[in-house]
This record gives sequence, structure tokens and C-alpha cells, in this order.
Amino acid sequence: MIILKIGGSILTNKDATKSEIDEKNLSRIANEIKSSLDNESKEIIIVHGAGSFGHPPAKEYKIGEPFNKEEYPQKRIGFSKTQNAVKRLNMLICDEFIKEDLPVVAIPASSFMVATNKRITEGNLDSFKRYLNKGFIPVIYGDVVLDKDLEICVISGDQIIQYLAKNLNPDKVILGTDVDGVYNKNPKIHDDAVFFDKFSSLEDLDTLEGTTNVDVTGGMVGKIKELLYLADLGIESKIINAEIENNIFKALNNDQVKGTVISRG
Ligand code: ADP
Repeated sequence: MIILKIGGSILTNKDATKSEIDEKNLSRIANEIKSSLDNESKEIIIVHGAGSFGHPPAKEYKIGEPFNKEEYPQKRIGFSKTQNAVKRLNMLICDEFIKEDLPVVAIPASSFMVATNKRITEGNLDSFKRYLNKGFIPVIYGDVVLDKDLEICVISGDQIIQYLAKNLNPDKVILGTDVDGVYNKNPKIHDDAVFFDKFSSLEDLDTLEGTTNVDVTGGMVGKIKELLYLADLGIESKIINAEIENNIFKALNNDQVKGTVISRG
């Protein structure tokens, strides 16, 4: 089984003021996934980020921050708006996958996962297994969920990856984003950033910059933290650049692709 994450940075525009899908990247990636399955059948779970759809409402309503009882009705509407925005993104993504004859089934985190202080602590994955057994491709995404401490919170696609991998023990965890992998500092800002083929500790970073995007869930550092946790459990993952044509196809086919392997070894 392969868990494939496609970053919000790849599938949506980066301008926080409007929620727009990146049609070109989306249709290319859908086609790469289809070609890889035509090559060889395999079980795939797809996770995608919330990108410019989910982050603006989550930020506006400060979802995940503590609040007073009187503010609850407002927060709840913020939850609804965020859930609907990421659902809309998911529908556009699934539309494109279905065009490629990929048998996707959306399983939103908000419908079955529960967090405690922003960490997923409940989420029965039986339906994932059942759908996989029947040849479906489950699709899950960064979403809002109920939180036992904070009432409601946002969970990132990266945290979902971690939860799924920990519980389903996949053969491969691949994360497609808009840079080649992990550098010692943000390569979008620093020309002299040094690339890591392999990454095993946060101490290897010079600066802890989140991301270039409007990301309420942690950006690259948040991503690496989730993946280091997996590495502690002996599960390796690889971050690759999904903006480069055929990278997703190659990674799914075990072909050599530039990227950063996150492992403790
Ligand atoms: P995605 O939406 O694809 O999951 P994010 O936008 O959250 O990805 O994170 C990727 C971004 O993180 C990159 O575009 C890059 O600008 C930024 N970034 C910050 N620090 C680093 C770093 N040390 N190495 C690589 N990218 C970094």
C-alpha cells in the first residue's frame, strides 16, 4: 500500500485572497497516478492539503484557538465554512480523478476523526481497509474536526498522513510539494539553501520558517515534525517536487526521483 500526499501548494493557487484550483497541475497529476496504476496495480490512499481553500476561513475564525462560551456560535459557523471550503476543493480534485477513471472515494476527516488538543486521537480506519479491498482509492484531506479540549480544531493533511501511516503500516509514504525536498532553510527565500537527500533531525535546519504560503497548520516544519515521528516508528517517507512532470509517476513506480528521505537511520 502507498500513501500519497499532494500538497495544497501544488493543487491550489498561493494567493490567499481567492480559492482557485491549479487545473494544470491537478490534471497532470491525476494522469500520472492513472498511468502508474496502468503499469502495475497497487493500493493507494490519497491525502491532499487544504491550500488556499481551507486556510483563509480557518484563519479568519481562528479555529483551534481557545475561546469563550459566548463565541461558540461564531466558531461553529467558522467550522462550517472551513469544512465546506475544503469539501469544495476535494470535489474538484475528485472530479478530475474520476475523469481519469480513478475509482476515488472521499472519506472526510470531519466525519470520523476526533482530536485532543489538535492531535488526532480517534479515527476508525476500517472503512479505508474495506474500500481498499474493493479496489477503491480513498481520498482524505486537511479538514476541521471536533476537539476534546478545544471544541474544534484544524488538522493538516500532514498530520493525517502520520495517523494513517502509523495505523496502516504502508510500504511507501510519498509527499508531493512545490520544492525538491528539505533544505537547511527555505529555498524560496534563500539562494544558498543546502538540499538534504536524507533528513533525520530538526537540528539540521538553520531556521524554522514555516512556509511561503498562508498555512495555519505548520508548513514545511510542521510536515517534517510529522514525518520524523513516523521515522521514530521505523516508517520512512519521501518528500518530492510534484511540480516537476512525471515525478509522482516515477515515485509511485519505484523509479529514481530527486527528493528528501525522512528517516532516523
Ligand atoms: P504543501 O502545501 O505542499 O504541503 P507547504 O506550502 O506547507 O507545502 O510547505 C512547502 C513550503 O515550505 C515550500 O514552498 C517552501 O517555501 C517552504 N519551506 C520553508 N522552510 C523550508 C525548508 N527548510 N526546506 C524546504 N522548504 C521550506
